[in-house]
This record gives sequence, structure tokens and C-alpha cells, in this order.
Amino acid sequence: MRALLSIDYTVDFVADDGRLTTGHAGQAIEQRLVDQTQSFIDAGDFVVFAIDRHDPEDHYHPESQLFPPHNIAGSSGRALYGSLAPLYEAQKNRENVYWIDKRHYSAFSGTDLDIRLRERGITEIYLTGVCTDICILHTAVDAYNLGYRLVIDADAVASFDAVGHEWALRHFEQTLGAKIIAKEE
Ligand code: ZN
Repeated sequence: MRALLSIDYTVDFVADDGRLTTGHAGQAIEQRLVDQTQSFIDAGDFVVFAIDRHDPEDHYHPESQLFPPHNIAGSSGRALYGSLAPLYEAQKNRENVYWIDKRHYSAFSGTDLDIRLRERGITEIYLTGVCTDICILHTAVDAYNLGYRLVIDADAVASFDAVGHEWALRHFEQTLGAKIIAKEE
């Protein structure tokens, strides 16, 4: 069994005026990310939207020292970006679609993701979203340590940092044993 994780593809991380945006790189993966998400949902695979959620007054959070406020609970910046938003709205009541509010980079950190995957017998995780070298990377490392097989869709992940993006793709393949797929295949 397999699952697709859709990570942080929100206005703040993708739109031109997002608070912590990947800009063009993030916008360029929209169609591929949406197509992959829809095909997993249609196939009955488990699809998890793991989305950053911060509180403006959370001064204990380490990210408050590192990044400007982003993905604030209830803000328009936390909305899913582009055509992923209507897709989620249309599909969110399906049994195989699940939303997780995450507080750290990794979708596993402080969430019930591992339990949700294990109870469905899922052993393989497809990662999509942003940023390749931050939230995708930390989620991939945790998944690796928990024994999941990883597939990274190189055309459905992006970063504001092109060097970090390329480094992370190499790390997924060479160090985490991930399979890297792309549009052409
Ligand atoms: Zn964050």
C-alpha cells in the first residue's frame, strides 16, 4: 500500500506575495503536483495534506528566530495554493483524504501520521510539495528512520534555493535510498 504526502503547498510558500515563497520554482510544479494528487485519490491511495500551522505569538517555536511569520492559523497565507485548493475542497470528505496540521518541518513531528500510515498497511510514501531541502527533506529523513520506502517526484517538489533542491534530490537517492521519478517516465 502507498500514500502520497502533499506538503506545504500554500499561498505563503508559493504565491508571489507569500511570506516565505518559493516563487516561480514552486509555481512551476503546480500542474504536476495537482495531477499526481488527483491520480492517487482516484486510485484509492491514501493522500495526506501535511500543512504547516503557526500561531503568531508562539515565541517558543524555534522557527520564530529563523523565518518571518508564515502559515499563520486562519490567515489567507495558509490556504492551499492555486488549483490544489479546489481539488482539496472537492475531495476532502473522501475516506482516503486526510489533513494534518504540522508545527515542525517534518510531517511526522508531533503528529499521528505514522499511526495513520501503519493502520492502513502503508509501506511506501510519495513526497510532493515544498520546500525540497526543508520540509520534504525532514519528512523524508523521518520516514527513512521509520522504515518506509520513499519515492520523490522531482517534478512535484521545489525550493527557493536551487542548490539546496539539487542537493536534497541527491541525498534522497544516494543516502535515503529513495526512488526519484520525473514527468518523462
Ligand atoms: Zn513553518
